[in-house]
This record gives sequence, structure tokens and C-alpha cells, in this order.
Amino acid sequence: TVRVRIAPSPTGNLHIGTARTAVFNWLFARHHEGKFILRIEDTDETRSRPEYTQSIIEGLTWLGLTWDEGPFFQSQRLDLYRQATKTLLDKGLAYYCYTSEAELEQLRSAQKARKEAPRYDNRHRNLTPAQREAFVAEGRSPVIRFKIEDNREIVWQDMVRGKLTWKASDLGGDMVIARASADDGVGQPLYNLAVVVDDIDMKITHVIRGEDHIANTAKQILLYEALGESIPEFSHTPLILNTQGAKLSKRDGVTSISEFKNLGFIAPAMANYMTLLGWSPPDTEELFSLADAAKQFSFSRVNKAGAKFDWVKLDWVNSQYLHKMPASELVDLLIPYWESAGYNFDPVGQRAWLEEMAVVIGPSLARLPEAVEMTKIFFSDGVEFTPDATAQLQQPGVTEVIQAILEALEKTETLTPDEAQQILKQVTAEKKVKKGLVMRSLRAALTGDVHGPDLIASWILLHQEGKDRIRLQQALQ
Ligand code: GLU
Repeated sequence: TVRVRIAPSPTGNLHIGTARTAVFNWLFARHHEGKFILRIEDTDETRSRPEYTQSIIEGLTWLGLTWDEGPFFQSQRLDLYRQATKTLLDKGLAYYCYTSEAELEQLRSAQKARKEAPRYDNRHRNLTPAQREAFVAEGRSPVIRFKIEDNREIVWQDMVRGKLTWKASDLGGDMVIARASADDGVGQPLYNLAVVVDDIDMKITHVIRGEDHIANTAKQILLYEALGESIPEFSHTPLILNTQGAKLSKRDGVTSISEFKNLGFIAPAMANYMTLLGWSPPDTEELFSLADAAKQFSFSRVNKAGAKFDWVKLDWVNSQYLHKMPASELVDLLIPYWESAGYNFDPVGQRAWLEEMAVVIGPSLARLPEAVEMTKIFFSDGVEFTPDATAQLQQPGVTEVIQAILEALEKTETLTPDEAQQILKQVTAEKKVKKGLVMRSLRAALTGDVHGPDLIASWILLHQEGKDRIRLQQALQ
């Protein structure tokens, strides 16, 4: 069976790039009825924080990316990595390196001066026991390096990028797999070792991760070989790019999933949009649930090129979900925004009214917080007039029109859409004006603006709260 994993490092909030990689892993797992595993890569003690683990878990949960196994924590699995280190040391495939930071720095600057790429020169590969003892006596603490033979190529068939080839000589020399030795002499594991050990232990069949890990894949393949294990499939997904075509980073502003949530994007829309970042469905339908996308998902439709992050598209996707959402669901989402805006309403007693309001504004809503401004006219007692609205109310004939509407309203208690239309028609005929003038004037008087949500529906909402008459009278003053 297919077994995949998402392996975030808790060194920041759940990033959109990680979330999108999680989406692809999830889709692939579900498509093949396999398992999706969550592994928290928290071996970097100085940068890992429990609150980031929390943010990752919350973000994945919010998006609906349920995992079948885990979360596993690398910090609780150190013994496994130590065992592997020991195996590699015993096999003579890894060794203690005592090169100091100062010596490495010297080496790097010499290489830089010769315009060479930085690489370790493997100088401690074949230390004699006496040399080792001398370094230990100096008080140097070692790292453990894995031997990389320069004269070979690493080749794999990438599920997105096809055949990939790396020269071992481009991997920077023997690589550090564990840092300063602990008491048992096998140290604190580094990323590449821990990942390989875990992917082996968790029987991962397909490693699906960002394109920025391609060089790591080459190194990791060497580790699989050294440990005598079979090598999984690899899939390197395209990066998410900003509008300038560079990798999306913190500097681009919003990048973490919680920030998108706070901006008022809803989870299914966000997941849908992220799926489109690099993948396209075989049909042209761009709106789908994760479950539907999973049915169609394959890496043959994942692009090699980076995926440009497009706010306009994201807004569009979100707006589509908001339009289709049942009014009661939308109201549930909007109540917290209305409450924090300080609007005065009874969420239970006025439920029906709130739902009607949701229906009215739904079609023009792209992000949830926009509802605050859009519904202000319904919650507020009075209105503020924009210059355009004031100008509209000063047009010749408008006073008479508004008076006529008020008179018509005297004769009706309820206001249905038909009755509202009837009043408009009647006033238009009676005052011998254009219907547009009647409508624009009514809108200006009721809402203080010349644009806005559907006029009749807005009028009815205001009427239900007894606000329409007051405003029409106000407009006459
Ligand atoms: N901890 C790594 C990261 O967050 C995982 C990469 C991988 O999937 O192997 O980038």
C-alpha cells in the first residue's frame, strides 16, 4: 500500500508551501487508498517550539487534511537515529570528523578565493587512532560524517520531473549526519539522516516534498544504499512563487495558514485553491472538494514550473464557496465578525433576519470580514451619506419621490418583494419620472450610498427592522 508523509519542522507557523505539499500527499494517499502520516521534525532544539507544532496541527486539521498515523515526533525517536549512525560507523561508511569551525571557515574562504563551490575536503576521513586521540585531547568535539564517493552519479525517476541525475561530487563532500557526540558517541542526528531513518521505519513508499529538497534527495539515496534499504519513489513539487516569480517568502506578507484564515478565507476554498497551485484537474472544473480532487489526482498533472500565487484567483475561489454556502452556515461564520464589530443584534432572536442578510450579501462577498462593512447599513441606526448619495438626493423631483414612497409604506405593514416592486412602479407612474431615478433615490436614502447589494432585498431587510421609514424621513431633512 501507498504510505506517504508530511514532515514539517515546527520552526514556524504552518506555511502555505508546507500545507500545499500536505495537500498533494493527502490527495495521493486518498487516491490510492493509502496512508497519510504526520511527522513533526523537531530535532533542532533551538528553533523548534511547541506552539508551532500546535499551529501545524491546527492548520492541517482546519484544512481537512486528516492523517492516519501520528503525529510522530523525531525528538522522541533519537535512539533510532543513533542506531543508524552506529551502523554506518561500524560499516566504515561514516567517521568522526574533528575539523574545527575555524578550519572550515578557512577552507571555505580559500575555496571562495579560487571561485570554487564550498565543499568539505574530507580531510579527517582516514585519521589514525593517534591523530584522533590528539584531537580529543585538545578538547575538540567531533561531528559524524557520512562518506560520499565523488566518482559516481545518483539517478532517480522523479514522479514530477522525470529522470534526475546528480553528480556526487556536487554534494559538498562527506556530509555531516550527526552533531557533537553525545555520551554514547553517536551524537545528535541531522535532518538528512533522521528523515531517511524515519522514512525507512515508517515504510514510506513515496516521498512527496518541495523542489527545494532535490539535493537532499541525492544525499538521502546514498544513505538508503548505505543502510541496505530499498529506495522509495520521489516526487518534487513545484515551489509557490510570488507575483515577481521568486519563491514566496515571509517578506511577501501573508504566508501562514492561520493568516489566511484570519483574512477570512474558508478552509474548503483554501484547500481547493492550494490544490490548483501546481496541479490541474483533467476536466476544466476548478471548484472541487479535496475528496473529489483525490479521485482524479495524479502526478502526471503536476507542473514542473513554479506555481504563481494569485490573490485574485484565491478571492474568486473563496467567493464561489461563500455564494454556494447555505445561509445558516454563512451566518455562523459571520456572527463573530459582527460581534467584534460591535453590532447590536440578537443572534438567536434575529436569526431569520440575519440569514436573509447573508443571502443578500453572499453574492458580493469574497472574504468574510468584508461582511462587516457590507452589512453596516442594516445594523446601524442612521446612515452616513456619501457625496454621491447627497448629490442624488438633491436632484429635482427626488423629495416628491421619497414622500410618495413614504405614503405608500403607510398603507402596508409587511413588505414582500412584490409589494416593494409595486410601490416602485406606482411611484414611477404617479410622479411621471424614470424608474431609475426612483431606485437611485431610494437607495441613496436607505443606504447613504449609490452602490450596494440588491435594492429590494436591502429595503426589505431594513423594513423588517422598522428602519426604512426613519431613513426616508431623514433623507427629506
Ligand atoms: N522537515 C523538512 C521540511 O520541513 C521535511 C522535508 C521532507 O519532507 O523530507 O522541509
